[in-house]
Amino acid sequence: MAGSIAPRPKAEIRYAVSGMGQLDIITWGILCVLYGVSIAACSMVLGRARKRWGFAISDFQKKENGLQIELDRLNAIDAEVARREKMSVVLYDFTKKMSGCLKFDEIAAVLESFLREDLKDSLTFKKGELIVLKGPKGAYGVDRAYSFLSSSSVAARPAMSRNSSYNSKDILAISSANRKGKLSRPGGFAVMPIMNGEEIAAVLVMEDVREDAFEKLGIMIPQLTLEMKKVLLYETVEHLSIVDGLTGLYSRRYFLERLEEEMKRAKSRRLVFSFLMADIDHFKTCNDTYGHLVGDVCLRQMGRLIKESVREIDLVARYGGEEFSVILPDTGKERALAVAERIRKRIEENVFRAYDEKPKLTISIGAASYPSDGGDSNTLIDSADKAVYKAKADGRNLVKGYRDMEAT
Ligand code: GH3
Ligand code: MG
Ligand code: MG
Repeated sequence: MAGSIAPRPKAEIRYAVSGMGQLDIITWGILCVLYGVSIAACSMVLGRARKRWGFAISDFQKKENGLQIELDRLNAIDAEVARREKMSVVLYDFTKKMSGCLKFDEIAAVLESFLREDLKDSLTFKKGELIVLKGPKGAYGVDRAYSFLSSSSVAARPAMSRNSSYNSKDILAISSANRKGKLSRPGGFAVMPIMNGEEIAAVLVMEDVREDAFEKLGIMIPQLTLEMKKVLLYETVEHLSIVDGLTGLYSRRYFLERLEEEMKRAKSRRLVFSFLMADIDHFKTCNDTYGHLVGDVCLRQMGRLIKESVREIDLVARYGGEEFSVILPDTGKERALAVAERIRKRIEENVFRAYDEKPKLTISIGAASYPSDGGDSNTLIDSADKAVYKAKADGRNLVKGYRDMEAT
């Protein structure tokens, strides 16, 4: 039929408009679906990856922080090891120097240089004192005290004095209650006892000490204690060898050493000195009458009387059984005879008391002087001996000078 157009089916019209075939649309559909699925898959994979790597990164950061802490800890240990190593070297040096000390004077000098020099970077203090004690536990007294100047002042040897500048009762009370030492704050007043067994041998006192410095002091105290014990032992042995056990006077051996020294001194400086030899009269009779115990007490009293009759610088020794010798430095014959006479008189007038007995005792003394009566020790002793024999021969209870045997 002309002029009329038959209507197309609907779908056909749609395809015609878009210009695509049915297959294309399906293909596009599939592609769209695939695109969507791939986008979803990708985002899922990415999400998972982010989740996984995100954890890994924070894990890594955590580990890094942990490592930093560990590193800091190791650095601190390293610094501590280096500090202790330095302290060990200082302590080793301290021990080495101390081991050569045989006297408290030397200990004090080493201690001071250690505190002032070796530890000057880490230990500051205002002043201090090493107080050496004497006497039995519970009745301590100050034997001597070495005072240290501040670590920043000009170096000097520690000054020794017979008294402490601190209140020794307080120091002893703190030491007795704190065997390991005490740091009082404020002020940093450090008190460190140095023990000899159960007894306090000495106390180290320091002012203005910081806490860490107090710990350092604590490290060296055991070493100081060992050295102190050694010196105490040495002093005791030395004392025993130079002091006579019965009278407390110097021994013959020590006396002979000192006589040699005095002789050298007098020769080099052209000085005079005198020597007395004294012998108790009829002492055997005293022993026979009252017994040896009474004799011993009398010997002790005799030694004390002689010592009290001379100067501090004169040296009194027990020469033998009942013989005493005295060195009188810078003393000529006249003066020596006067001293001998004073001794003789003192003994003659003394009332000896021993175990309810009152023995009457006298002494005969011979005097010899350098250089007139002898140019060497043996000759001088011999001259004094001869003077004693002369005094005995002339009736005892007498003083005789060598050569001038007329003096009484
Ligand atoms: P002389 O006047 O001639 O010196 O007579 P003497 O009796 O003192 O002299 P002698 O040498 O004959 O005797 C010394 C005595 O001193 C002998 C001894 O019994 C006594 N003696 C020596 N050492 C000690 C001592 O340590 N203790 C006591 N108790 N007696 C002593
Ligand atoms: Mg005799
Ligand atoms: Mg005698």
